Amino acid sequence: MSAQLSVTSAPGRKALVMQGMQASIAARVKAGVDLKSPTCIYGLCEAHNVAVRFNDINMEGMYDRTPKPRIHVSVLRPLARRTFTCAHELGHHVFGHGSTIDELREDQASSADRPPNEILADAFAAFVLMPTLGLREAFAKRGLDPNRATALDMYAIACNFGVGQATLVNHLAYGINMINQVQRDRLGRITPKMIRTELLGEVTSMPLTVADQHWNSPTLDIEQDGLLLLPAGVVVDASMLVPERELAAGRLFRAAKCGITRVVMPGTQWATYVRIARRQYVGLARFRHLEETADD
Ligand SMILES: [Zn+2]
Repeated sequence: MSAQLSVTSAPGRKALVMQGMQASIAARVKAGVDLKSPTCIYGLCEAHNVAVRFNDINMEGMYDRTPKPRIHVSVLRPLARRTFTCAHELGHHVFGHGSTIDELREDQASSADRPPNEILADAFAAFVLMPTLGLREAFAKRGLDPNRATALDMYAIACNFGVGQATLVNHLAYGINMINQVQRDRLGRITPKMIRTELLGEVTSMPLTVADQHWNSPTLDIEQDGLLLLPAGVVVDASMLVPERELAAGRLFRAAKCGITRVVMPGTQWATYVRIARRQYVGLARFRHLEETADD
């Protein structure tokens, strides 16, 4: 049966994941980012002098290795997916890989047959977006045992780090062994749509971002018309974040127009910049929150 061994054996895979993790630490240090906080991947790419462009391309993304390196990310994919793809392409950059095209993949696709460079880039992406120290802190301050956390708990933490629920759960299970297989399987059966339905009390196809009272990212990226669940007591600019209704878990808002708006909770440290981009905005990442001018 030896002929059926995959290209990357288990021990080889483990070494690649370690390399990916180490490179993620170096990339954060080089950009002056600490080793535990959630970080904006587009800002991190800028710090590494890699331009990021959103395109309506039918793939996850690509890395273009030129003297002026560039990452292309598909806007046809969900926001959290774009974040992970961008981090993955930055992984190709920091490892000095050549230009790469990443075809569409299922969220839960098996990674067993991935080539070594893809394992490296995936590991880099997971660790740079979800530093282990940051995840430990996220569970600790919410008073959660990772093996007992509910899907809603996991969703709030996934949103805080800008990744999808499945990405977080799989990294906790297979990347850093912070949850066991029983917990992974339990959470793996719960879709983002089921989580939205439980939180909102109705079925919606609109994306929902949850920022709970332990949210600690300085920025929150969302697209126009997207839904945002914030803790009760926040003060917002209602022309940008339109109040929708009160829920058991907080206040629900809808992102009304493009731009950057500060949200605070008076009397507390809780504050974040909500950055609203046009839906499926095509163009350079750094211009994604610019309001449309009357002319275009
Ligand atoms: Zn790749």
